[in-house]
Amino acid sequence: MRYGGILDLSTVDFPKKLCAVVFFVGCPFRCPYCQNYRLFSGGIEVKPEEIAKKVRENYLIEGVCLTGGEPLLQNIDEMKELLKILKDYGLAIKLDTNGYYPEKLEKLLNYLDYIAMDFKTIPEKYPKVTGKEDSYERFSESLKLLVDFNIDYEIRTTVVPTITDREDLIRMGEILREFNVKRYVLQQFRNEDVYDEKFREIKPYPKDFYFEVGRILRDYVDEVIVRFEGEHVIT
Ligand code: SF4
Repeated sequence: MRYGGILDLSTVDFPKKLCAVVFFVGCPFRCPYCQNYRLFSGGIEVKPEEIAKKVRENYLIEGVCLTGGEPLLQNIDEMKELLKILKDYGLAIKLDTNGYYPEKLEKLLNYLDYIAMDFKTIPEKYPKVTGKEDSYERFSESLKLLVDFNIDYEIRTTVVPTITDREDLIRMGEILREFNVKRYVLQQFRNEDVYDEKFREIKPYPKDFYFEVGRILRDYVDEVIVRFEGEHVIT
């Protein structure tokens, strides 16, 4: 497995759980606002047991967040092996994913406790944003899978001017309603140190914008959360 490092303890990467965060290297997408672009390449090759051993070193944690890059880019058998070991340790497992690998996601659903999946933008803009022609189709397959499986999840969007404007977000709300999605998170965009230098010049929307759109989206999704200087449930 291509491993990029571990954060021993986090209070914000797994809802209501202290967790370790494991970073995997590689991603099929090239989102211009990506802040983890240093994980596109590099890292070291390790076995699942080695990652599990590093996770085990912290006895305070209740869970593990697998992130990247895109964790599902890794070999599926090795990933399954890792999840089995972590489950044997009694840890809850959260997966951060961009939804590009529905066939792999399906094989791992039984081992996962929480999934955070990105919804990048409206269907027409997906190829340009991700760099992959089939990215929306594959994302929507993953979305259907996880809603049907009834696992605890959040669908989340980093709100970036030009990629997700107000009209786009409302349209995305309509799509989420069609898929019967129950929890949607709007995430703050930070323009420092992002992959595409042009996006470092884009001024993020103000906090009020998130709340205003969040209130509109409550008509489409039961639970809307704004993650902007903390976490705020829109009522
Ligand atoms: S999917 Fe995530 S890790 Fe991959 S390029 Fe986009 S923001 Fe970065």
